[in-house]
Amino acid sequence: MSEMTYGLDFNYDQWRSFTEELGEPAYRADQLCQWIYQKKIFDVNRMTNLSKPLREGLVDKLYVQPPFSAKVQTSQDKTVKFLWRFLDGNEVESVLMDHGNHHTACLSTQVGCPLRCDFCATGRQGFVRNLTAGEIVGHLLAMESWLGQDIKNVVFMGMGEPLLNWDNLKKAIEILNHPKMRGMGIRRMTISTAGVAPGILALAESGLDVGLSVSIHAPNDEIRSRLMPVNDRYPMGQVIDALKVYQKKTGSRITVEYVMLKKVNDETEHAYELAALLSDLDVYVNLIPYNPVIERYSRPSASRVAPFAAILRKLGLEVDVRKEKGADIDAACGQLRGRSE
Ligand code: SAH
Repeated sequence: MSEMTYGLDFNYDQWRSFTEELGEPAYRADQLCQWIYQKKIFDVNRMTNLSKPLREGLVDKLYVQPPFSAKVQTSQDKTVKFLWRFLDGNEVESVLMDHGNHHTACLSTQVGCPLRCDFCATGRQGFVRNLTAGEIVGHLLAMESWLGQDIKNVVFMGMGEPLLNWDNLKKAIEILNHPKMRGMGIRRMTISTAGVAPGILALAESGLDVGLSVSIHAPNDEIRSRLMPVNDRYPMGQVIDALKVYQKKTGSRITVEYVMLKKVNDETEHAYELAALLSDLDVYVNLIPYNPVIERYSRPSASRVAPFAAILRKLGLEVDVRKEKGADIDAACGQLRGRSE
């Protein structure tokens, strides 16, 4: 057991070196990847096109099981929330959203989160550790295995700050994208960040053409710093500048997330301020009515959200008000793992 390698942490080159060191032909790596990423078979003994001696040799060298499902809850709108347990006992949640003809998975990148946004349940739990690339990929594979079909889209919007675990996330994205591995289109993946400016620049630099969402949540630094301590480190000006660099480099549209908190950031003047702030960017604004998980904050009524959206639209922005999914099972945004604590 001591020499066990966690195969889900391998990228394609590492699979090639691993099989090469075993004295196996190169196509063996492809076969292993096919079993794991396409057929979702995580038990070496069931990989029937490998010779029996090879399988027996691999059994105590290679471990490719995704995390263990500790809890599954399905809501009335078919949203499914999972609690995943890793080998060290740590847990994260993920959410599976059903869009009728395809699915989106909301994945975590860290156990807990160091950013401590004041309105967020995960932030309250503090930071435990980063997920490895294999753990990030692993909880998607486990969901696909549970579902019995492939999931089309992935958003890194679960627990944690993706851009503070960039090396592992980048590797996970490459594994998901690789044609011999999961083969998921790069445009099918979206990273959501609280505004870690250097991370946004690193993403631009990487050339990975994933989607980018930014949690702005406030019209100015004063309000934003109250809601999101990360704003003291990377104030709005710095985030907007990084987004401009990103946009110049990628030409991609950016989604701006704006969680609406009653009487905190939902006044009409805030809408004007927000529009001015975003004026030099090509964005799509996603207004997210708050899911009340922290007592101090509440959700504005539709009669406050609608005029806010209307002002943004009048000022030329494309705006959408997010529909809540999975509210009856606490799968809605920011409610992850909250109740079990
Ligand atoms: N750290 C990243 C990704 C994880 S959070 C980020 O901040 O973007 C995913 C999104 O859910 C963020 O926009 C976050 O601000 C939002 N969120 C957190 N708690 C929420 C809540 N209770 N209601 C609505 N949105 C929430």
